[in-house]
Amino acid sequence: MGFDTSGLLPLSDALQGMLAQLDGCCESEQLPLPEALGRVLAMDIASPLSVPPFDNSAMDGYAVRLADLAGGAPLIMAGKAFAGQPYQGEWPAGHCVRIMTGAPVPAGTDAVVMQEETQADGDRITFLTTPVSGQNIRRRGEDIREGASVLAAGTCLTAREMPLLASLGIASVSVRRPLKVAIFSTGDELKPVGTPLAHGDIYDSNRYGVRAMLDRMGCDCLDLGIIPDDPAQLRDAFLKADREADALITTGGVSVGEADFTKQLLEELGEIGFWKLAIKPGKPFAFGRLPHAWFFGLPGNPVSAMVTFDQLVQPALAKLAGQRFERPLQLPAIAAEPLKKAPGRLDFQRGILIQGQNGLEVRSTGSQDSAVFSSLSRANCYIVLERERGRVAAGETVTVEPFGGLLL
Ligand code: AMP
Ligand code: MG
Repeated sequence: MGFDTSGLLPLSDALQGMLAQLDGCCESEQLPLPEALGRVLAMDIASPLSVPPFDNSAMDGYAVRLADLAGGAPLIMAGKAFAGQPYQGEWPAGHCVRIMTGAPVPAGTDAVVMQEETQADGDRITFLTTPVSGQNIRRRGEDIREGASVLAAGTCLTAREMPLLASLGIASVSVRRPLKVAIFSTGDELKPVGTPLAHGDIYDSNRYGVRAMLDRMGCDCLDLGIIPDDPAQLRDAFLKADREADALITTGGVSVGEADFTKQLLEELGEIGFWKLAIKPGKPFAFGRLPHAWFFGLPGNPVSAMVTFDQLVQPALAKLAGQRFERPLQLPAIAAEPLKKAPGRLDFQRGILIQGQNGLEVRSTGSQDSAVFSSLSRANCYIVLERERGRVAAGETVTVEPFGGLLL
């Protein structure tokens, strides 16, 4: 409060503005199924066959015809059907067929009676229950019908899709090549891990977070390291990234400090918008085009960099990669303690969500300063507080967004 927030750009406007400009830029290639893990499907997949491909037994038991059971007499076992070894013999009246789970049911089968509901005396099988037509039979095409659409273009192939594709006998798929993303950190104060710090230096931490998130997204990362606040070196780095990658993500240097040369350079090299977002953390943000690559300039403060990547850059990169994107679920939870908040910006506070006695409860991780990284590392969710909302009292309902996707 006390400062004018009316000129700030709402997150949803920023997101829409970006997405409207972006299109998929990754060509497709055909890969053997095992190599396609983590890739994005380039085409819809329709099932080339029915699953299951034949009527089969859901139980270990006996295949029967209902007419044979009408008299109530025991049936004689005519033979056996195993998974992979169908029964092919005669099936005379008054007989049943011993059958195992997954075995094709012999032609004429009305039902399978589970073993536990029978008594065997040699080959004479007594049925203790009266089966219903169709019982314990998994029908051909019951799961997936031939020709039915099973996966849409844009689906990222994970452990959930791989066995599905294999069950359809699909040996190779058309997928997008990975999006190539260049990254660098800017700032004279930044030193790489593994080197000593002089007074005034800090370790470059943002690149490790950005890399980790790109990795989870399946992007190829071109890491250009730390670039000092020096116009010539910055220019070289921008041009190299523009030549070699589909997109460039930098952190730092997009606010209005004296050493923030990036703005000047970017205005010269491309068409970049410098936005002040109505979100906290993460106010300064830059987006636009270099001659060949898209550019995303994240704030330098570590928590702001992570949150703006997660909320804004992730959906944008997904669109470039041809990947369908859905935000994680948002849920209501009870604030277990008061939360500091001033109206004016949409807050992504970092919280700890627990299952309380009366439902979900959330607490703050403590200081919400955008430089305090422990606020993120100790959190398991965002507490999303609406732009106009003020201080939250204990017991109020708030919206939480559990970490899933990138911040796992
Ligand atoms: P800037 O946006 O460049 O003005 O940076 C804002 C704050 O974030 C400053 O305190 C920087 O030292 C810090 N910062 C910028 N880049 C990084 C980085 N890569 N790792 C850790 N802190 C950073
Ligand atoms: Mg800086």
